[in-house]
Amino acid sequence: MKKNIIVLVSGGMDSATLLWLAKKEFDEVYAISFNYGQKHSVELDFAKELVRLAKVKQHFVVDIPHLKGIKGSALTDSSVEVPSESYPDEPPITTVPMRNLNFLSIAASFADVYEIENIGIGIHSVDSPYPDCRAEFASSVEAAINSSSIMVAKKKNRIRVYTPFLGMTKTDVLKLGLELGVPYEKTYSCYKGTLPPCGECATCQQRQEAFESLGLKDPLFR
Ligand SMILES: [Zn+2]
Repeated sequence: MKKNIIVLVSGGMDSATLLWLAKKEFDEVYAISFNYGQKHSVELDFAKELVRLAKVKQHFVVDIPHLKGIKGSALTDSSVEVPSESYPDEPPITTVPMRNLNFLSIAASFADVYEIENIGIGIHSVDSPYPDCRAEFASSVEAAINSSSIMVAKKKNRIRVYTPFLGMTKTDVLKLGLELGVPYEKTYSCYKGTLPPCGECATCQQRQEAFESLGLKDPLFR
């Protein structure tokens, strides 16, 4: 049987790297992106272009408006500003409540119907400040998906939450992506949603630091 996967693609560096890795490791690749009321919804244009370049079998773009209605996250709440620098709070003000749980359960609905056995998410780093980017989260959501899956109940197989970057740093992910030929000039990570990206918010800083640690310059800030 063909090995297949559905990859969560935001348009950022990590998910782009995961998409290129999936193209190498799997026979059939699907992609899914979410319009969740994020201020930086411009990232979806980048996600669509990356998915087009990666030539996936199908790309699903899903609207989930309820997250914007829940106040409190700097990524979705217009009354909370995206910090211009790294944030000391843990979890950060940019945490969107249960975002990855929402994303993975929706991706799992597609996996169940399209009979896709892997769901890829580009979470990384051992001690992520985001609760829904940790290994414990990934393994428990995988258990929940398997216990509620029609496909699993019928076929007695498993759905895997594929997290190859867990335990890696952003620099590790970048190093791998450069080997895979990821077009990083076509990715977008800025939480402020500006064009060109602001260069100052935590995500803009993190990606520039990753490039600098390899002696390179981020192509978005040349
Ligand atoms: Zn930025």
